[in-house]
Amino acid sequence: MRVTMIGSGYVGLVSGACFADFGHDVVCVDLNKAKIAALQRGEIPIFEPGLDALVANNASAGRLKFTSDLPSAVAQADIVFVAVGTPSRRGDGHADLSYVYAAAQEIAQAVRGFTVVVTKSTVPVGTGDEVERIIRETNPDADVVVVSNPEFLREGAAIEDFKRPDRIVVGLEDERARPVMEEVYRPLYLNQGPLIFTGRRTAELTKYAGNAFLAMKITFINEIADLCEQTGANVQDVARGIGADNRIGSKFLHPGPGYGGSCFPKDTLALAKTGQDYGTPLRLVETTIAINDQRKRAMGRKVVAALQGKARGKTVGVLGLTFKPNTDDMRDAPSIAVIQTLVDAGARVRAYDPEGMEAAKSVLDNVEYCEDAYDAARGADCLVLVTEWNAFRSLDLARIKDLMISPVLVDLRNVYRPSEVEAAGFAYSSVGRPNDG
Ligand code: NAD
Repeated sequence: MRVTMIGSGYVGLVSGACFADFGHDVVCVDLNKAKIAALQRGEIPIFEPGLDALVANNASAGRLKFTSDLPSAVAQADIVFVAVGTPSRRGDGHADLSYVYAAAQEIAQAVRGFTVVVTKSTVPVGTGDEVERIIRETNPDADVVVVSNPEFLREGAAIEDFKRPDRIVVGLEDERARPVMEEVYRPLYLNQGPLIFTGRRTAELTKYAGNAFLAMKITFINEIADLCEQTGANVQDVARGIGADNRIGSKFLHPGPGYGGSCFPKDTLALAKTGQDYGTPLRLVETTIAINDQRKRAMGRKVVAALQGKARGKTVGVLGLTFKPNTDDMRDAPSIAVIQTLVDAGARVRAYDPEGMEAAKSVLDNVEYCEDAYDAARGADCLVLVTEWNAFRSLDLARIKDLMISPVLVDLRNVYRPSEVEAAGFAYSSVGRPNDG
């Protein structure tokens, strides 16, 4: 099949490369000309494990091409995916759909013959109706069917997620799209890849409901962690105890500095706004957002507390800046609020992240960037582990202690065992665990 992907960011590039790997002819489009030029030179503009090899193999096999010429890429396609950004709209938190609508207009003008247009971006319920309206209004002769196929991949494990999905949700209102969607996902379908066909609005809402549920689950265990700290219970044992119940499941029960990233914060906010607009406020989601917002700064205050409440003039080393390991994505990372709280309290911050420092520099300018974890510990009064990169899981604690002014470690991801860190001579605090636990 001839597949065109509009938007070559995390989702578009991974999806495009995977579709090419399935054997389809894929053209990835982006309006960012520098990004397309880099991709044409074989450079991958984002960090995602395995993506460079996947892109290189499929590009050299001639199945994966890059262009900023949207009209010709759309004209030759059987199926056009829209994977452009849908960030929070400034001011009100609604999803900003301007990129989606602009893409719809451009597609309408360029389309030739029967074409399935698929929204892969995360968009509020009802957006497909509007995309269809825009296309019909822009080009009444366009023979187009509009489908919703939200993407569930996770950054850091995106290729694996795309190729072995738990499910593929396809929302359609016109049966002509069904065989086309079956065909494009056929390599997965043959392996019993679970395609779930629904109405278009249902598919759109399914994506938000899934993300909101996961955000709630994280927020729930974070609050239980706070209660554990006050009562001497151990949140990790609580999580194991409840996670073993398969009605609950063990995933997403790791307490930490609050959820961040390019999806959960904006998607929970957009869902809450949709609920309000339809007169059915989603109070669990609204409360989740409020708790998570407060939590990030609270984690900064936890670090200040580890400094005996006196951060002014102190140096804090920060390990990990991205919102999770194995990505360079800094969007809404908890590190931003944690570091801002420390800077507000008068601390000097030195930080290291294996992949995120370039992206971090555009959002965090009040930070000294370091060579590695040991460099970040040098001269620090306190070291904070914010993102659980593998590189931080087995640090040489004796060496770290020698480099620091005072051996204080705040582990916001519960990577270390309290007994081992204390035996190494550190004052240690983590999330929801007693130090003798
Ligand atoms: P991104 O910002 O990394 O990429 C979007 C790309 O689209 C950019 O390169 C931008 O230049 C391009 N673009 C915008 N308008 C365009 C147009 N008219 N024509 C061509 N290119 C255009 O975004 P992302 O993280 O890939 O997210 C894309 C969508 O997928 C969002 O709706 C997001 O919520 C959703 N999503 C993201 C993830 C994730 O983990 N990042 C997971 C699932 C779903």
